[in-house]
Amino acid sequence: MVLRLLPSVIVSICALQLAGTTAAQPFEPQLPDPGNVSLSRQQQEQIGFKTAEQVYQQMPVLPDSSPETQYIRQIGQRLAAVIPPDHSWPFVFHVVAEKDINAFALPGGEMFVNLGAITAASNEAELAGVMAHEMSHVYMQHSAKQMQKSQMMQGLAGLAGAILGSGGGVLGSLGAEGIQIGAGMVMLKYSRGDEAQADAVGAMILYRAGYNPQALADFFRKLEAQGGNGPQFLSDHPDPGNRDEAILREIRNWPPIQYRRDDAEFQRARAVAAKAPAYSADEIAQGAKTGRWVTLNKRNGAVLMPQTGVPVSQNEQPQAGGSPGGSSYRPVAWSAVAPATSYTYTDLGLLKMVRPVNWQVVAAQQQGQFITVAPQAGMVDGGIGYGVMVNSVVPNSQTSLDETTQQIAQNLQSGQSGLQPQGSITDIGVGSTRGRSLTLQSTSPFPDANGHAQAERDWLVTASRPDGSVVYMVFVAPAAQFERMRPAFSRMIHSVQF
Ligand SMILES: [Zn+2]
Repeated sequence: MVLRLLPSVIVSICALQLAGTTAAQPFEPQLPDPGNVSLSRQQQEQIGFKTAEQVYQQMPVLPDSSPETQYIRQIGQRLAAVIPPDHSWPFVFHVVAEKDINAFALPGGEMFVNLGAITAASNEAELAGVMAHEMSHVYMQHSAKQMQKSQMMQGLAGLAGAILGSGGGVLGSLGAEGIQIGAGMVMLKYSRGDEAQADAVGAMILYRAGYNPQALADFFRKLEAQGGNGPQFLSDHPDPGNRDEAILREIRNWPPIQYRRDDAEFQRARAVAAKAPAYSADEIAQGAKTGRWVTLNKRNGAVLMPQTGVPVSQNEQPQAGGSPGGSSYRPVAWSAVAPATSYTYTDLGLLKMVRPVNWQVVAAQQQGQFITVAPQAGMVDGGIGYGVMVNSVVPNSQTSLDETTQQIAQNLQSGQSGLQPQGSITDIGVGSTRGRSLTLQSTSPFPDANGHAQAERDWLVTASRPDGSVVYMVFVAPAAQFERMRPAFSRMIHSVQF
């Protein structure tokens, strides 16, 4: 996308103030060194992300904009903030419409909390305790350590290859000894040692985030008291023995602090969660077979959906009226623009989002008035052939997001000849808000491998910022490679924070 005119209303870009960092106090419990594993961070993130996509196929996940998810994200961000940045992960929190008391986290930081866990907690600290326990499994890289130990794995490179390979690889590869698949959920079974560690580290995270760590012990006692087969959480996270006593012993000598009490907000969120439709594990397994959750999650604008049935095709023709007379740019090899598997959070001022570590941020003043996040090889004069351009507009107060999206699309069209919408505006989850999505098509500044002009897809995504302005992102790639690029784009959209 190479724009000759720029949208008329631009707000100035101001760097967001960074939140104060938590200075380590000498007397506070310190998180242990998570140690090293053979799977790289990138591999763990990739496995987690691919698995999260599978979860969205097999479970009803609440929209990111739901009050339950927003509430869980608030707690999650508070907990994640106490983890040393060098050992942190891009945590993203989701809520599953399941009755059972459960939560699970995937390597790399995707975490799913059941509605049943929200309604079973007596206060926010108990709920935060379950999440801190899950977060500790990610922090300690327990899944990666379990994979490493697992006898059946024929070399980690092979494992990563199998998992990252074509669709279905995750379920296929993980359906083996020591690995549990229940109700469409894929996760490793943790050892009792892992559990004891996740309890201890979870208590530390809880405490450092200002919650009373005793809540973790309280919640486990409550789960154990349920009797019968017990909640799913306890079979996934086996009791290492005298669980609540061990936690109480761990926290005994920590200096007392003024613990946070957000019980009004918790009560509100729990009341909402209690009214939301929630399903049993059996119903969820059934729905996974019939494709019910795929339909539901798509309708909710979920971006974490595997893109199936859309082969990477060479057949899309540039549309008539596209750039004539050849391009001044040379064909680009996929390897030169392919997103890295590792992502990093970037503050763009207008918003924060993850980006592949090998893509660069070009600030507005250097690149028209757009902020560009793109691979070096994907940039051209005044635009990009691969990557995303970010900007914002200030709409009139009476303008709906649909209308604003329409106007932005028209502005973009007037800035680039041959740019045409394909289809209509649809809903999409942008971070924890609800945005709009519109696909457009134009001609890539880069010719295809044979030197011929090729079609480009321009995916416009808009969302309202808390200050009323509308941020918009245009994700760009040649049409023939767009589906290959889409997971990276989805991940970026999914990670947006204002
Ligand atoms: Zn556990």
